[in-house]
Amino acid sequence: MKTCEDVALKEQLLYLLELQTIDTRVKELDAARRTLPTRTEPLRRDLAKLDGMLGGERQKLAETETWKKQQADMLVAEQEALRSAKSKLQGSKTGKEYNAASREVDNKKKSIHDREVELKKVTEALSSGGTVIGERDDAVAQLREQLATEEAQIAIKVEELAVQIAEASTGREALRAKIDKPWLKTYDTLAGKRGYAVSPVIAGTCQGCQMRIPPQLNNILARMESLEMCPRCGRIIYRKEMIEPAPPAAT
Ligand SMILES: [Zn+2]
Repeated sequence: MKTCEDVALKEQLLYLLELQTIDTRVKELDAARRTLPTRTEPLRRDLAKLDGMLGGERQKLAETETWKKQQADMLVAEQEALRSAKSKLQGSKTGKEYNAASREVDNKKKSIHDREVELKKVTEALSSGGTVIGERDDAVAQLREQLATEEAQIAIKVEELAVQIAEASTGREALRAKIDKPWLKTYDTLAGKRGYAVSPVIAGTCQGCQMRIPPQLNNILARMESLEMCPRCGRIIYRKEMIEPAPPAAT
């Protein structure tokens, strides 16, 4: 009778450990799968920043473009005013009229000259601004390409990991079906809370929390009659030497 229970209990423990091995592996793979896409985050942040800067520069350039157009329009109006001042000068009948028209012509000439200087400056600024933006555009395009390459590589790795997860999970449900329901529930709760649920006891110490378990409990574990839990960390415990044979002595 006792032997029969022994076997049943050992079997349950082995199932639990097997399940834990699967779950640990799946958890590792899943963590890798989830962190992989975050690797491109710095690059994506850089790109967003550059895009923002470029957007600002483009807007400034557009504003300068508008300003240039206004200046050009004003130049046309001033040239028109110069023409009419000149014809006034030609038609002046008195010295007073002549002087006034002459002053107007000079004024118009001066403002046309100033406008032209301004326009030249603005045209140069627009040209160099355009060149800078063009260079930055190229840099951004390169970064974008790099990001796309990295993301494609990551996507492949993520897919590979998904396959590995599926492979690692093979037989998991069948295994769970073999474990007693209450223990399975305990296992799931502990795995969720503690990371893993089953811990060996080596030389009287729970390896899950490094607590020395009471000698009485250690004796109970040696009998292999019941599944027990660590009084401190709550994990399902077993004596390592009862389940796993000692490694063969070195020859
Ligand atoms: Zn413990």
